[in-house]
Amino acid sequence: MSAIDSLPPLREVIETHQLLARKSLGQNFLLDLNLTSKIARQAGDLTECDVLEIGPGPGGLTRGLLAEGARRVLAVEKDSRCMPALAEIAEAYPGRLELINGDALEVDVLAHLTPPVRVAANLPYNVGTELLVRWLTPKEWPPFWQSLTLMFQREVAERIVAQPGSKAYGRLALLAQWRAEANIVLSLPPEAFSPPPKVHSAVVHLTALAEPRFPADAATLSRVVAAGFNQRRKMLRASLKGVAPGIEDHLKAAGIAPTERAERVSLEQFCALARSSKPLE
Ligand code: SAM
Repeated sequence: MSAIDSLPPLREVIETHQLLARKSLGQNFLLDLNLTSKIARQAGDLTECDVLEIGPGPGGLTRGLLAEGARRVLAVEKDSRCMPALAEIAEAYPGRLELINGDALEVDVLAHLTPPVRVAANLPYNVGTELLVRWLTPKEWPPFWQSLTLMFQREVAERIVAQPGSKAYGRLALLAQWRAEANIVLSLPPEAFSPPPKVHSAVVHLTALAEPRFPADAATLSRVVAAGFNQRRKMLRASLKGVAPGIEDHLKAAGIAPTERAERVSLEQFCALARSSKPLE
């Protein structure tokens, strides 16, 4: 295995800094630097970009991102035990790694980033979906990021890229695919991590579209989708009853049979439904 930098191997870093993995922080570390470089390459050309990384841990992916030429990396880590190990990486890449010891759900990262920005992270599973939803639902579009390259448990990754008619299809797929292009780019078995999690993982790459795929008001679309999938077994004329008066007419106007179920309705149809029901709110 070729070395990607002159820093010690990750097993040694973990031992030196006694970074015993904590379950409460979702700590499953990637120790193979060739693998972390491969993940970094999935994020695209980093040389002109600031990269936001959440949860660097002992810094495997951080090193991959820097070795792949990221202009700058901003890394936000909640666990203060990791900071000395990360500081050594900052020293090896002068001026290119900024560290914040804090909770990614609370830190205002925008003040620390210069566009264009890409996000890359082996996310803590407990906060991953919440961060993704926040990044997909900003007040303004396009968002602060050009792309998101994120590790999820395989099941969540499948929900992000799911198509109508599949069990995984739902709110997350529609949210992601309305204003982004989403693909699974890498699958990883539990043994790729230390300690191995119980589930398989996958890396999803999302690219922000300049404009939504189909016009719709974000709040109305979100309400219609949430109500439709809240009772996914019900027919839409029943599950959407409370969303707008005369919902059957709106369903028909959008080309959706009122007896249809949410999991068979396409993104384009949901957007048409949001447009039709909006004026009556
Ligand atoms: N990126 C490292 C790697 O690939 O080996 C570590 C990945 S581990 C799955 C998740 C990391 O996120 C841990 O280092 C954990 O301490 C950190 N973390 C957990 N919750 C966090 C939060 N709310 N904000 C920032 N970091 C968090």
